[in-house]
This record gives sequence, structure tokens and C-alpha cells, in this order.
Amino acid sequence: MYFFDPHVHMISRVTDDYERMARMGCVGVSEPAFWAGFDRGSVDGFRDYFRQLTEFEPTRAGWSGVQHFTWLCINAKEAENVELSREVIAMIPEFLGNPGVLGIGEIGLNKNTKNECTIFREHVDLAMKTNEQILIHTPHLDDKLKGTRMIIDMLLEDDRVDPNRVLIDHVEEHTVGAAREEGFWCAMTLYPVTKCTPSRAADIIEMYGDDRIMVNSAGDWGPSNPTAVPDFIMEMRRRGHSEKKIKKIVYDNPVEFFSGSDRFEFTPPDTLWETSRAAADTD
Ligand SMILES: [Zn+2]
Repeated sequence: MYFFDPHVHMISRVTDDYERMARMGCVGVSEPAFWAGFDRGSVDGFRDYFRQLTEFEPTRAGWSGVQHFTWLCINAKEAENVELSREVIAMIPEFLGNPGVLGIGEIGLNKNTKNECTIFREHVDLAMKTNEQILIHTPHLDDKLKGTRMIIDMLLEDDRVDPNRVLIDHVEEHTVGAAREEGFWCAMTLYPVTKCTPSRAADIIEMYGDDRIMVNSAGDWGPSNPTAVPDFIMEMRRRGHSEKKIKKIVYDNPVEFFSGSDRFEFTPPDTLWETSRAAADTD
């Protein structure tokens, strides 16, 4: 089955991971900007990072036939440096015209602080002024429920925000309802330790249905598994769910949500292989 991983930090992964993902059916990935494991020291550090995301990473993904898309922001962990955050937000528009940039993300909260809220609102303002979609990171563990509620409240109080153009990520059993009730898209992260396991994600689908929801691996530099989406596919099959239902969650839903961006120039896999075969034939 073809799948699309809507949230995976491929710059932290090796080229072999793209190859393994492609062999398991991955045809597309979307990569939000995130924390590098250390706080970056200058706006130029972010400029170079955004160049890597928008220039080299799509090329590297293409070696395995995977189509690569990205989101730009300064993440919540670095938002305590308000001055640098504002410099980065002012610089982001340099990249918004680049192919494959789907919007602003992953923005959100980490420890639910005042500075994080300030920078979150300024990112949302940029997204509204530039007509971009938004991808949201919700906090970890104890901070998740309160932080998710705070994020939803900040989004709803800005009447320019259309929930249909916002994806709230890392939802779990206790937050998925709040996100969906307000009309947002949401995603579950399949992590080996925290967040969701494939079986918990399948439970959530059985409780909440398959509309406006997707799953991702969030593969990054920590303990994570870039082939977690195929694990979810296997779990859903074991439970007897139809191929159509599984495909809706792992392929149709991400493609539908991302299509809200003019720069989502995604070639469906069947067309892609036909085109490359035709090109090979003429050689
Ligand atoms: Zn992430």
C-alpha cells in the first residue's frame, strides 16, 4: 500500500531510511522545521537550515522516488529567545515562494510559557498575512492537555484562522476530541516510547473514526522509527479493517489536507511511475 508520512524529520535520518521507507510504499513525506537538539545562535543558522529543507532534502528524497515537502518556523523550545524568534519570523517569507513549502510549522507550545504564546501568535499572524496553512506541535506528557487547550483557544480567538487549514499534531486519547470538535485536522505520532503506539492509534481510529485524521512517525534524531506508518497499516489489517479505510488514513487524508497549499505539487505514484517508465522507454 502506498503511504504518505505527514510528519518526519528526515534531515536527522540517513539516505538508507528513505530507501527502506520507499520499499514499504512511502511515496511522500512532509518535514516540519524543528529543534536541532541545541538552540541555534543566529538567524543565519535558521536560513541555512531552511535552505537544507527546501533545496537539498527534496533532492535526497528524490533518489528513492519519495516526494518531499516542508514547513518553516522557529520551534517552541527556542521561542524563549523572543528577539531571535522575531528575526526568524521576519526571514521566513524569503522561503515561502519555494517549491514544496506547505506552510508554517511545526509551531505550538512546549512548556506553555508566556513567551511561547507570544511567538505562537506571531507565527499565526504571519501565516494569516501570507495565506499559509499551519502545522501544530502539541506539548509532551503532563503539559499536553493544557497546552492543546491553550493552542486551540489562541487559534479560535483569531477569526482569520480557518480550522480546515490547520493540522494539530501529536494528538492522543485525551486531546483528539477537542481538536476535531473545533473542525481542525489532526495527526497521531507513532513513537516507540512516548506519544502513540500503532495499537493505541488503531484504538483511537476505532473510537473517533477516520475523518480528518492521519498518522506519522515523526522520525527524528531521538528514539523513533521512520517505518512506523507501515506498522500501523499492519495493526489495522490484523484487526480486519478494510484496505480502503487504511488508505484513507495513511494516504488520502494527508494528500487532501496538503492540497490546501498551492505549492503542493504532488504527483500521484501511479502517474509518477508511468511517467518515469515512458521516459526510460524513449532512451
Ligand atoms: Zn516534529
